[in-house]
Amino acid sequence: MDQLIKDIDIISGEEAQAVDYKTTPEENTGKTKKIYIESYGCQMNFSDSEIVASIMKENGYDTTADFQQADVVFLNTCSIREKAEQTVRNRLNHFNAVKKNKPEMTIGVLGCMAERLKDKLLEEEKIVDVVVGPDAYRDLPNLVNAAEDGRKGVNTFLSREETYADIAPVRLNSNGVTAFISIMRGCDNMCSFCVVPFTRGRERSRDPHSIVAEARDLFERGYREVTLLGQNVDSYKWSPEENNKARLNKKEEEVSEVVNFANLLEMVAQVNPLLRVRFSTSHPKDITDEVLYTMKKYDNICKYIHLPVQSGNSRVLELMNRTYDREWYLDRVKAIREILGEECGISSDMIAGFCTETEEEHKDTLTLMDIVKYDFSYMFYYSERPGTLAAKKYTDDIPLDVKKRRLNEIIEKQTQLSLERNKLDIGQEQIILIEGTSKKSEFELKGRNSANKVVIVPSEGLKIGDYVKVKIKDCTAATLFGEVLEINPALA
Ligand code: SAM
Ligand code: SF4
Repeated sequence: MDQLIKDIDIISGEEAQAVDYKTTPEENTGKTKKIYIESYGCQMNFSDSEIVASIMKENGYDTTADFQQADVVFLNTCSIREKAEQTVRNRLNHFNAVKKNKPEMTIGVLGCMAERLKDKLLEEEKIVDVVVGPDAYRDLPNLVNAAEDGRKGVNTFLSREETYADIAPVRLNSNGVTAFISIMRGCDNMCSFCVVPFTRGRERSRDPHSIVAEARDLFERGYREVTLLGQNVDSYKWSPEENNKARLNKKEEEVSEVVNFANLLEMVAQVNPLLRVRFSTSHPKDITDEVLYTMKKYDNICKYIHLPVQSGNSRVLELMNRTYDREWYLDRVKAIREILGEECGISSDMIAGFCTETEEEHKDTLTLMDIVKYDFSYMFYYSERPGTLAAKKYTDDIPLDVKKRRLNEIIEKQTQLSLERNKLDIGQEQIILIEGTSKKSEFELKGRNSANKVVIVPSEGLKIGDYVKVKIKDCTAATLFGEVLEINPALA
C-alpha cells in the first residue's frame, strides 16, 4: 500500500506536504564534527547521499539523525515535480530558524534543485551557505570550508565523465540486506516533461569492474540483494576508453571493448548465486531481448521489470518525446511475457493530464493498463517544470481538477489490477528474502518475492537476511501473506 498512499498524497497536491524523504542515522565513531543529510526524491538521490556521507566521513564528519546537533545540514533535493521543491523550501526555512541561535551551522542544498535555484537561494533569499550540483560532490569539503570562512560555496558544474566509481558509499538507512548500486549518471533522453537531463546532465556509465567489486563487497558484508540504478539502465554502455554514452556512440569502432547492460547484469549475477540482482529503471525503447534472456538465464536475477509507459496513447507519447508508441510498448510487454512468463512482475509510471490530453486519450492509458496488467504503478498528474521542452512548446491546459480526476481513475484501475495480479499468487510456493519487520505487527516479518511483491510471514524462527520458501495464503492489493515452508532452502 506504500506506493498507493504515496501517490494519493500527490493527488492532494498543494494541501499535502508529505513527500517521501530519508534522514541520516546517528553514527558516532569519534569524529569531531556532525553532518545531517535529508534526502528527497528518487532512489538515485538517496544513493547520492550515501556518496556524500562517504566523502564527508573521509573529511572528519560523523552523521547525526538530529539536525539541531549538526555542524553541517544538507538537503539533497529533487526537482521532478513542483511539490518536491515547495517541501525543500519549507525545510530550509525551518533550518534557518534554528541557525538564528546557532550561526556557525552551515546549510547546504545539494542535487537537482542546485543549478536552477542557486542564485535565488544564495544571493536573493540568503537561506543557504552552500549549493552543490550532483556532479560536484567531491568538492563539498572545500565548499563547506569556504562557507565556514564566510564565503559562499557554489559548484553546479555538470560533468561529462564523473561517476564516483571509486567512492565506497556509506550505507544510510540500511537493513543490512538490500542495497542500491548506482551504475550510471545523467540521461540523454529528452522526455518533454522531465527536468532530469537539465539537472543531472549527460549520460555516463560507471566502470563495470567497480560495480562488481561493490556488489562483491556488499555480499561479503552479509547483503543478499543489490539493485542496479540508473535513469535508463538498458542504455548502459561502457568502454575502458570512454564512459560518456554520446561520445562512445561516435567512436565505437575505435574502443577496445564495449560492455552493455546485458553484459553487466551477467557480471553482477555471477558474483554469487545467493546475491539477488534487481535493476531500475528500464526504458521501453531500449530494453532488449538480450537483457530478457540474461534475466531468464540466472535464477538470482529477479523477475521484475519497472517499465514506465507514462501514457497509453501514441499521440501523447509523441508529445512527451518518449520515442515509442503504444504498439511498440505492447510489443515489449509481449516479449517479456514470452521470454519470462506471466509471473514476471511489471510496474509502470503514469502521468495523467499531460498537455492537450483528451478524454479519449486518457482512456487509452486505462485500456493499456488493462492489457498489461501491471503489478503496481507510480502515478502522478502532470506538473509543468520550468526549462523543459513541454514548458517551452506546449500549454499546460488541462485544469487541475480534471488532472486529479483522471489520476484518480488511473489509481482506481491500478488498485483493481494489483489485487487481480496478487490473487494469482495465492497457492503458489515462492522464495522470499526477509528484509525487515512488518509495520503492523512485531510477530511478523516482511520479505520480497522475485517479482518485487511484499510478502508478510510469521516471524518465528526467522531472521532478516534469510531466504524462505513460502506458500502464499492470502493477499490485499498491496501485500501477499505467506506461510513458511522452509528456511534457507538450497537456491544454487
Ligand atoms: N528515467 C525514468 C523513466 O524514464 O521512466 C523516470 C525518471 S523520473 C525521476 C520518475 C517519474 O516521474 C517519471 O517516470 C514520470 O512518471 C514522473 N515525472 C517526471 N516529470 C514529471 C512531471 N513534470 N510531472 C509529473 N510527473 C513527472
Ligand atoms: Fe526523464 Fe525521460 Fe530521462 Fe526518464 S528517460 S530521466 S523521464 S528524460
